[in-house]
Amino acid sequence: MTSFSSFPMREELTRAVTDLGFETPTPIQQKVIPLLLENPVDIIGLAQTGTGKTAAFGLPLLQHSDPDQKHVQCLVLSPTRELCMQIQEELKKYGAHMRGLKIAAVYGGVPITGQIREVKANPQIIVATPGRLIDLLERKALNMDNVQYVVLDEADEMLNMGFRDDIDFILKSTPKRQHTWLFSATMSNEVRGIAKRFMKEWQEISVAPANQANQNIDHQYYVTNNHNRFDTLQRLLDFTPGIYGIIFVRTRQDCQDIAEKLMKQGYHVSPLHGDMDQKMRSKVMDRFKSKQLQAIIATDVAARGIDVNDITHVINYELPDDQEVYTHRSGRTARAGKSGICMSIVTPKEIGIIRQIERIAKAKFHKSDIPDGAEVVRKRLFFYLDEIANAEPAADFAKLYQHNIHERFEAMDKDELIRRLIWLQLKDTIDNYSKAKDLNAGYEKKGERGERAPRGVDSSGRAVMRLFINLGTKDGMTDEGLVDFITESTDIEPGMLSGVTVRELASFFNVGSDAAEFIMTALSSKKFKGRKVRVDEAEQKTGGGGFNRERGGDRGGERGGYRGGRDGDRRGGGERGGYRGSRDGGGERGGERRGSEGGRSSFSRDSGSHFNKKGRK
Ligand code: AMP
Repeated sequence: MTSFSSFPMREELTRAVTDLGFETPTPIQQKVIPLLLENPVDIIGLAQTGTGKTAAFGLPLLQHSDPDQKHVQCLVLSPTRELCMQIQEELKKYGAHMRGLKIAAVYGGVPITGQIREVKANPQIIVATPGRLIDLLERKALNMDNVQYVVLDEADEMLNMGFRDDIDFILKSTPKRQHTWLFSATMSNEVRGIAKRFMKEWQEISVAPANQANQNIDHQYYVTNNHNRFDTLQRLLDFTPGIYGIIFVRTRQDCQDIAEKLMKQGYHVSPLHGDMDQKMRSKVMDRFKSKQLQAIIATDVAARGIDVNDITHVINYELPDDQEVYTHRSGRTARAGKSGICMSIVTPKEIGIIRQIERIAKAKFHKSDIPDGAEVVRKRLFFYLDEIANAEPAADFAKLYQHNIHERFEAMDKDELIRRLIWLQLKDTIDNYSKAKDLNAGYEKKGERGERAPRGVDSSGRAVMRLFINLGTKDGMTDEGLVDFITESTDIEPGMLSGVTVRELASFFNVGSDAAEFIMTALSSKKFKGRKVRVDEAEQKTGGGGFNRERGGDRGGERGGYRGGRDGDRRGGGERGGYRGSRDGGGERGGERRGSEGGRSSFSRDSGSHFNKKGRK
């Protein structure tokens, strides 16, 4: 197997890589580094963050930089401020032993004056976002006449963000450019367009087939009804006490609301969305990186800048519309060879979307049951036991209080003492979960919330479920028309339907409970006169007798803002199943899965108090 020492690199670089504890080059590094070291060529590298691509271009870039020459020799363009800072940090680590080397990072969102000073101090390498770089060029703060190497990192993302003209301008402003290395998660005509305009010959290097999700991720989905989404999220959080995760939501409003609800209950979380200014977002990221936060709730746009390696879980509070966005979200976990879990909360009618993602992203999903109260308590018990077993009390502490502790509990039986300790730790959870309802779709019982009774029996005693469909007389629907539409769309027999009620904006019908999920999924991919059909369980108003849900006409089971309020998605971010050299415990699934939690000492140190609720409802 190739090792870093086999690459013809400066000794300073090999030493830095050893200092960092890198043992084996990742696949993209194995392919790219040798190619770019000796007789560099132009390349298009298809790889995403997490695959080790920064070192793949960074080490050759540093190899070709001359610290004795005090002018800009290399330029790295990246789409976001966060990525810019990360690349600068990584490059500084790799170049730590190169005396005289300066690496500047310039990006928007902060005053330009400090950056003008930095670029005037003659760095050899500049990492920049396109907009700020052009600003500096226009102010004549920076001279790129001697730039020989240009790296375009996350080129697809820069194009998605509308930087095409800026990239062209910048590349045209580098008259002595000899090599262009373009990295992109996806290959598109636009990406190729840059290559055609600015590169003479290039090699394409990819580490995994396009759009394939990372193989180290366990994709799980949990089926619940729409109004139970939040409770399901909470249950999943309680069930994963060691979580260090990102919870993805679709709108800024959801982001804020969900974060606030969780914070109120004592969870260590924070929102991250576009309405927060840069300073606030940086503060959140700092707290997250230092693990003061166990999770952040983020919109896709805000999450762009997050580059954290040891994310254990990604949770989709709602699925995104776009498979590529799913791949990108889930790719936030299982990075740099680790394994991770991506949990998606879906309603029965969204199962069809799971199947689509499975097909396109070639990711296998596992349906997992939403854990019940006993499972949550059990999981937390074992987590706490591990924490006690692995705790390393400070020596001073042991010395200082040893006597008092011993005296106080001398007479108490060890088992009794442990029981009490554990009881103290778990009693809130036990209280909270003593009457926990079953959140799995299809298991809600009448009376638990006093508002829903989706199940009943028909005249022959058969268990039925009443369903809502967003088609009514306004759409030209009639009783017969509805039966025809449903039977033709799903291939079920007309006799399986009963209690058909067509209203102005929506209709209702009963089906056998065993067929309900199938019918909801089948109908939800259909259109009627060009309108997308929505089917959901019918809701019964509190205390009311009939199935009288007609609210909003065509919004089906969706909450307001579900589609309208999207704040943009990152597209084109397919995570390549790149580096997966050293799995650290994948393979397990569902209930007792603790692969990535066990090793996380940062939460262990805090004695598992992250989920001690301050005052739950
Ligand atoms: P990147 O894809 O460049 O964002 O890198 C992801 C992470 O993997 C960074 O934190 C790197 O420091 C780390 N990394 C890069 N190459 C290796 C390697 N060969 N072995 C172990 N870790 C690596």
